[in-house]
Amino acid sequence: MHGSILDQGLVNDVIEGSDTVFHLAAAVGVHTIVDKPLQSLRTNLHGTENVVEAAVAHKARFLVASTSEIYGKNDSDGLPEDADRVLGSPLKSRWSYAAAKGLDELVAYVYGEESGLPCVITRFFNIVGPRQTGRYGMVVPRFVSQALANKPITVYGEGTQRRCFGSVFDVVPAMVRLLDTPAAHNKAVNLGGKEEVSIKGLADRVIELTGSRSEIRYVPYEEAYGEGYEDMQRRMPDTTLAARLIGYAPERRLDDVIRSILEHNATPSVAPQRALLA
Ligand code: UDP
Repeated sequence: MHGSILDQGLVNDVIEGSDTVFHLAAAVGVHTIVDKPLQSLRTNLHGTENVVEAAVAHKARFLVASTSEIYGKNDSDGLPEDADRVLGSPLKSRWSYAAAKGLDELVAYVYGEESGLPCVITRFFNIVGPRQTGRYGMVVPRFVSQALANKPITVYGEGTQRRCFGSVFDVVPAMVRLLDTPAAHNKAVNLGGKEEVSIKGLADRVIELTGSRSEIRYVPYEEAYGEGYEDMQRRMPDTTLAARLIGYAPERRLDDVIRSILEHNATPSVAPQRALLA
């Protein structure tokens, strides 16, 4: 079934009779947030409220997806869950996403506390996997498509910003285990990978793995995202809490993550998920 989390009646119907809700639906991707700020805000705020309210009404335990974005410009060497948030003005479009997801966490937390239902908040750090599209801005599928077409790889800024890409294949089992673990209930838990790379380094690796003839084109941030955009220079997860709670130990490395997108591009007819709410 396809529909929107803004459709309260539909959300209620879908959740009725379920014992567990994984709430992953959101407006995501920097291009989406910058291009459609109002729609994104509404989806992320009201949509989450709809899903959590319905979960509580039907006594279903629930997991709410959050993001490393909420740490903002804190570029420490490994961000634990209680790290300070360093956010720009909420009126700058990028930060509206961090502001909304911070409130989503609070909605989940307070409803979890008051209802007594098991609830988990997961903070994803640049998670990548098959079927991820570059349409909304995510860098790995964008670079892979550009490389496969032998087009320029668009590195924004100087490419010195660093990320740690995690795999959906490590993260999904962890989500299920966290909901099954009482010590994780009503906690925010980081989930991500372990291999840090600069964005220029990522571009080089994609070119090598695809055997592409693409060259790197450096695109100023202003050209990519418009005026006043602020990027995070570094975002590195500390997954100690997940390791302690469920023995989380991500196995996939950067090359695995790139290959998972590559393989999907080679077989584009993979069946879509049965139910998608976005
Ligand atoms: N990026 C890039 N070229 C692109 C898309 C993204 O250089 O075509 C950069 C982006 O500026 C950021 C990093 O890649 O520094 C990761 O971007 P993404 O949107 O995937 O995730 P973010 O960490 O920004 O949420």
